Amino acid sequence: VFPKRVALLGSTGSIGTQALDVVRANSTRFTIAVLSAHSNAELLIQQAREFRPAAVVIGDETKYAAVKTALAGQPETEVLAGVAALTEVAGRPDSDIVLTAMVGYAGLLPTVAAIRAGKDIALANKETLVVAGQLITQLVQEYKVGLYPVDSEHSAIFQCLVGEERNPIEKIILTASGGPFRGRTREQLAEVTKAQALKHPNWDMGAKITIDSASLMNKGLEVIEAKWLFGLRDDQIDVVVHPQSIIHSLVQFEDGSLKAQLGLPDMKLPIQYALGYPHRLPASFPRFSFLDYPQLTFEQPDKTAFRNLALAFDAMGRAGNAPCVLNAANEIAVAAFLRDEVGFLQMSELVEDCLSRVSYLAEPSLDDYVQTDKEARRIVQERLARY
Ligand code: NDP
Ligand code: MG
Repeated sequence: VFPKRVALLGSTGSIGTQALDVVRANSTRFTIAVLSAHSNAELLIQQAREFRPAAVVIGDETKYAAVKTALAGQPETEVLAGVAALTEVAGRPDSDIVLTAMVGYAGLLPTVAAIRAGKDIALANKETLVVAGQLITQLVQEYKVGLYPVDSEHSAIFQCLVGEERNPIEKIILTASGGPFRGRTREQLAEVTKAQALKHPNWDMGAKITIDSASLMNKGLEVIEAKWLFGLRDDQIDVVVHPQSIIHSLVQFEDGSLKAQLGLPDMKLPIQYALGYPHRLPASFPRFSFLDYPQLTFEQPDKTAFRNLALAFDAMGRAGNAPCVLNAANEIAVAAFLRDEVGFLQMSELVEDCLSRVSYLAEPSLDDYVQTDKEARRIVQERLARY
């Protein structure tokens, strides 16, 4: 199976750059076929010079000329720009696996294209499964591709399920760090600042997922992601707060046995596992020692203070296009919070309001998801304009 040719979408982000560290450390096993960035042309150029992919995509079309000029001496690398180009390269025959490391709804169409082209997917972009989990899992079955989670919790569960193919899952338990505001009341959350929200205790990640982690929307998105990845009923998914982020998640089987996967919080491990599956590749990542963690603790998540978690469970229960609405509204709300336009608690207010306004569709098509995403964004933007 090696060397595997990797199309890395979102190569300039937190997951993207760590994925390149994994590729660098395993240069006989992985090669890079595609790199993409949204606007960070400088880093994209630097990466392209090092990894010499067949194609690079810069999302922001105004930066096309700069990338093209910088890579003029490298004719083997084609330079493309724009949203449609990402979807086009995702389906090209020169890659074996597509690592979706872009943030947000933008992952949906490239992922669909990659599956339809028969590629395995290493999925970091959880929003794709939140938006269109039913459609994506149907496509994965139809095109018989692999869908390997990169999200650490889902990678943990995926690893625990190896060898358990005949054994039904009773439930899964997703662990949550609780983020920087664990233990705070609603009144206290009303006062928190963007700078505080951007400081995650255990993980160094992109801005959007860092805010989602502080608001527990990230765990809500992960609950929906898990439903589709592992084919679960809603009542089979539990969340427990585990502030040390050492136990990455657990599976409980019908005999009551629990399996967990443990390790230091480092995304390189789940990235490498997803790219290398079914092989475990040697790695020099720092090892976990119990001596450094004499106490691993657990508590209930507070769904009243952190309303997003309750909203995500509700949206999952309503199914249809409701999770797509949840995701779109959250993306706009988080962006507004990052521009200091709304407070921390207003993010969940905007999401809740939007969920009650968008027309419900029980069996959405791909086009329905695209339309739902647009409608939800418009509704939240209109609300914001009135603040
Ligand atoms: P970052 O913000 O660090 O990186 C995002 C990447 O996507 C960058 O390469 C960025 O380009 C690109 N990008 C941004 N907007 C768009 C767009 N509209 N279309 C295409 N590409 C775009 O995010 P993370 O790496 O933190 O997260 C990526 C995904 O992985 C998210 O879905 C997140 O939920 C998931 N994830 C991340 C974890 C982590 O530890 N970071 C853990 C688990 C899951 P540019 O740099 O030019 O802006
Ligand atoms: Mg996670």
